[in-house]
Amino acid sequence: MSYKIETIKVNKSRLSEIDFDNIPFGKLFSDHMFSADYIDGEWTNLQIIPFAPLELSPVNLALHYGQSIFEGMKASKMTDGTPALLRPELHVQRLNASADRMCMPHVPEDLFLQALHELVGMESGWIPQKEGSALYIRPVMFAMDAKLGVAVSETYKFLIITGPVGPYYPKPVKLLADTQYIRAAHGGVGEAKTAGNYAASLYPARKAMEKGYDQILWLDAKEFKYVQEVGTMNIFFVIDGKVVTPETNGTILKGITRKMILHILKDQGIEVEERLVDIHEIVAAHKDGRLTEIFGAGTAAVISNVELISYDGVDMKMPPIETHKIAHMLKNTINGIRSGEVADKFGWVVPVKRETAKV
Ligand SMILES: *Cc1c(COP(=O)(O)O)cnc(C)c1O
Repeated sequence: MSYKIETIKVNKSRLSEIDFDNIPFGKLFSDHMFSADYIDGEWTNLQIIPFAPLELSPVNLALHYGQSIFEGMKASKMTDGTPALLRPELHVQRLNASADRMCMPHVPEDLFLQALHELVGMESGWIPQKEGSALYIRPVMFAMDAKLGVAVSETYKFLIITGPVGPYYPKPVKLLADTQYIRAAHGGVGEAKTAGNYAASLYPARKAMEKGYDQILWLDAKEFKYVQEVGTMNIFFVIDGKVVTPETNGTILKGITRKMILHILKDQGIEVEERLVDIHEIVAAHKDGRLTEIFGAGTAAVISNVELISYDGVDMKMPPIETHKIAHMLKNTINGIRSGEVADKFGWVVPVKRETAKV
């Protein structure tokens, strides 16, 4: 099905004002955004409009009770200049899984994909060329009912916002395995990309930063024993040459980068295990020198090297980052598939259909 998306263009693009050599993360947005409203059980007002502030009721339900979900994805330019997306269908599927958990409506897959192609096609001039940079894409849906009282909203807004980003987390990160605060418990909303998860992480993250760490390595909510994930990244360990990552059991965000990594590793014949990962196992493997790499994986950073993990008052330092061969290979493979320099043998790359964007 093809939807009729109305386009209202800016009078003057801001593109020429952008310094593509110095892009701050998350502060620059392209000229246009996609916008749709869910009213009377259907998505209407399908529009690409200038990026601009919204008008919200002071009693907007999302502001008070947090019915809000999002996605994070990237568009990049292949070496031949074609803008491309990576596995966009998985992002809309996960958006809809988050929607289910938060009692929100689905965005039809075909609507999501059409809007994405039209918007990214139109904003393709905003996609930075530099290695590791991209056009970050932020789909977001939130409640729009204007009333107080905890209840499921009947109306929603869905936006797709885009903005150029440079390489993210260029420095290796120091993690604190926290034994006081939790991110997600069984039965909770840890698997949903919903606003409250990130709000709840701010205070513990600030405490960790005050102690000199960059982020928290979350442990399970019951025993503070099993490793979950980091900020907006899934976590991987290399032990005895084997790659080990926590299984997604309802408390961990099902990362699309994580999924691609598991696929690449299996394809290359590198042994991988998805299972419970006990922090004591990590401590023991570090002690014996069997823990050779730790890395985080997510759309924003792709791969983020971990320099150390602090647990129980001890900083477990990792060997020099240059020796983290698997992390390096994965980053190059995923970035290479994106750019077209590595053959896309799994069929993950979706070139943006630019012709649909011509208005
Ligand atoms: C988005 C996110 C990830 C990474 O998911 P990707 O699909 O790989 O970007 C991991 N953990 C959390 C908590 C996240 O929000």
